[in-house]
Amino acid sequence: MRLIIVGPPGAGKGTQAESIIEKYQIPHISTGDILRENIKNETHLGKEAKKFMDHGDLVPDHLVVALIQDRLSREDCKNGFLLDGFPRTVAQAVALDAQLKKLGIKLDRVININVDDDLLIERAVGRRVCKTCKATYHVKYNPPKEEGVCDIDGGELIQRDDDTEKTVKNRIKVYHEQTAPLVDYYRAQGLILNIDGSKAIGDVFDQIVKGLA
Ligand code: ADP
Ligand code: AMP
Ligand code: ZN
Repeated sequence: MRLIIVGPPGAGKGTQAESIIEKYQIPHISTGDILRENIKNETHLGKEAKKFMDHGDLVPDHLVVALIQDRLSREDCKNGFLLDGFPRTVAQAVALDAQLKKLGIKLDRVININVDDDLLIERAVGRRVCKTCKATYHVKYNPPKEEGVCDIDGGELIQRDDDTEKTVKNRIKVYHEQTAPLVDYYRAQGLILNIDGSKAIGDVFDQIVKGLA
């Protein structure tokens, strides 16, 4: 299964990705996670990306396209993958199409998680992420058993630097301006699977599984 998951920031892409990759046994490729890892390790890419991520702006296309080209060429992507947070511009989608064509493979579906803007800020600001395994929680909607501690591995739960109300508002604006046009791009290819992301986490997953069947 070769999948993309798109939607505004805080829509629930990462949360659904955790269940999707388990069910379909494919790698979860999150450009946001890879970029944050680069920031942590103080790589050249991390230093460049941080300038944009701190404000909630998109990292330049050439940097993320190079990153994804490298990632998709690895062995574990042979039988499928789930792209989360990439592509985020039509230019990135065009670059991805070119790479897939070269590799002789096609996308199966683009899962489009729809959530109204008014729900997104609360979701993103209440998000907590495990420092070690990156599992996602929410202080109100998906709390861990013990506050501040990951259920899976006991790791520390932290808040992302860009999950402040001010930055989230800009990320939502950037989504509408630069990422939403992707939906039309993939609709024209007949790939869009629309999902109502305003429902509870388990219900959203059920919609996805039905849609992919
Ligand atoms: P994205 O990857 O799209 O930015 P996340 O999956 O990280 O979004 O979800 C953002 C926040 O909202 C997290 O704290 C997550 O636990 C919570 N969340 C995800 N899906 C739902 C849902 N269906 N209902 C309520 N909260 C949700
Ligand atoms: P995410 O983890 O998907 O919410 O992404 C966090 C931040 O990483 C975004 O606000 C962007 O600054 C950056 N980012 C992640 N993926 C991309 C991408 N495909 N193109 C440009 N910037 C990206
Ligand atoms: Zn963890």
